[in-house]
Amino acid sequence: MAGFRCMNHPDREAVHQCGRCGKPLCEECYDPDLGRCREHCDEPLVKPQPKGRSAAFRAIVAILAIIGALTVLLAAICGAYIFSLS
Ligand SMILES: [Zn+2]
Ligand SMILES: [Zn+2]
Repeated sequence: MAGFRCMNHPDREAVHQCGRCGKPLCEECYDPDLGRCREHCDEPLVKPQPKGRSAAFRAIVAILAIIGALTVLLAAICGAYIFSLS
């Protein structure tokens, strides 16, 4: 962030960048726990996810993982069967 100035303190050099709005920030304005502005972000890029959606998403991922595992298992069984014929 060399050459950048903090959005809130023009006299300070920015050492971090907000992970949300991308603003250059000084040590005081940056929250390392959140990885973004300590003060409110004026330009939120990511809307907060509605509750329950992440659980549904995890369920879909789990189902896809099971389908993938079964596909691999089926392919292995078929491969072994074909190999045993030859
Ligand atoms: Zn600052
Ligand atoms: Zn921000």
